[in-house]
Amino acid sequence: STVPPGIDPDRLAALLDAERARWVQARPRAAALRERARLSQLHGTPQHWISQFPPPIPLVVDRAVGARLYDTDGHEYADFGLAATAALWGHDHPAVVAALRDQLDRGSVTLWAGEDHVAVTEELARRFGLPFWQFTVSASDANRFALLLARVTTGRQKILVFHRAYHGSLEQAGVVLTADGEVAPEPGVDPNGVDVRQTTKVVEFNDLDALERALAPRDVAAVLAEPVLTNGGAVIRPEPGFHAALRDLTRRTGTLLIIDETQTIPAGPGGCTREFGLDPDLITMGKSIAGGVPAGLYGMSGEVAAAAERYTEHGDGGLGSTMAGGPLAVRAMRAVLTEVMTDKNYAHMSRLAARYERDVAAVIAEHGLPWHVGRLGGRVSYAFTPAPPRNAGQLYPRVGSSARQALWLYLANRGVVINAMSGAALMSPMTAESDVELHGALFAEAIGALAAKKG
Ligand code: PMP
Repeated sequence: STVPPGIDPDRLAALLDAERARWVQARPRAAALRERARLSQLHGTPQHWISQFPPPIPLVVDRAVGARLYDTDGHEYADFGLAATAALWGHDHPAVVAALRDQLDRGSVTLWAGEDHVAVTEELARRFGLPFWQFTVSASDANRFALLLARVTTGRQKILVFHRAYHGSLEQAGVVLTADGEVAPEPGVDPNGVDVRQTTKVVEFNDLDALERALAPRDVAAVLAEPVLTNGGAVIRPEPGFHAALRDLTRRTGTLLIIDETQTIPAGPGGCTREFGLDPDLITMGKSIAGGVPAGLYGMSGEVAAAAERYTEHGDGGLGSTMAGGPLAVRAMRAVLTEVMTDKNYAHMSRLAARYERDVAAVIAEHGLPWHVGRLGGRVSYAFTPAPPRNAGQLYPRVGSSARQALWLYLANRGVVINAMSGAALMSPMTAESDVELHGALFAEAIGALAAKKG
């Protein structure tokens, strides 16, 4: 069934219809703009996936200020989606805005580097522990280049990812386990793009036996892993000892370990790498790191750097991008690292996230729902499973996609936006406690309207 346990299917269907109608009725300008966009954009949206988000007409943002959005039809929203961490610090953090304003008068791309670049890579080395860093335009690119360098360093072809992890627009990583344990492209990714059975092995998160079997042939260049699985609408934590065993198994089999911190920066000022004391060979990130300017980064050990320097001595190596490390992005990164990713800001984010989590947990308990709410620093999301999920397989098939849509619309129609795909919520240093309170009240109302009557 696509209806999560504890939800009344008839009430869900009725509520979804009512919320869709309410959304459309209050947004004539957004509707008109959508029709105009249909003539020049796929699905009438500038990125195709916006058309798959819950609202029948996409949100048309007029401006984004602090942790709030204002749409073209005059509605205001508390924004807990925060662009899936890309706007993690708020939409116009004063330190980032000041840095960008100043840099605009000094040039935004030069194909050279300045002092900011060195300050940033020094600070990254200090925070994340890896000595050498390179700039990219996106987290997808950071993963692409990290995987390439892992292959160069090891001389091996295959990679390994965890089931249902997301690492960006890379066909080789958009891979899942089928019910028969076969490797296949993620649903919705074209099977003709790359023969993923040749490129990629997949195991469930927290499954050390499967990991050991997959690495034993010593043909895997790198394991690419989120330190905590965040995609798919849950916080899936590593079990005790998982990361130590992952590091041990990769070392013993000559496999490199790439930690993708893109979504886990809300865990703490040095991501999960610092929070958990991880010791990877490469780290990738993007999104939030330049405060809203497109940017990504990958860091590497001395061993990988030595191989990478040999490899790139006389050519481009298939790495890089003209727009990577532009002074605008790097100036913003410096401001983010030194003025925004502070212990004080993280304490605020965590405190509000803990409140948001408590509000959700109270509603789950009140209705006796077999759901689980999880938190990672400033990030909160709930799964439609009774216990904390140990892998993403437990989250699929996508139970509750209609419930997630109904919840998203119920909240958004009343001024609260959460992540449109996963339902996750993020707290920024600019998030107000009153907005967290508003979410708690609306969530209680929504579940009151959706929950199956007891007895
Ligand atoms: N890694 C992870 C863990 C992600 O969640 C994402 C995007 N959601 C990416 C990489 C890719 O980021 P981008 O789409 O900005 O390239």
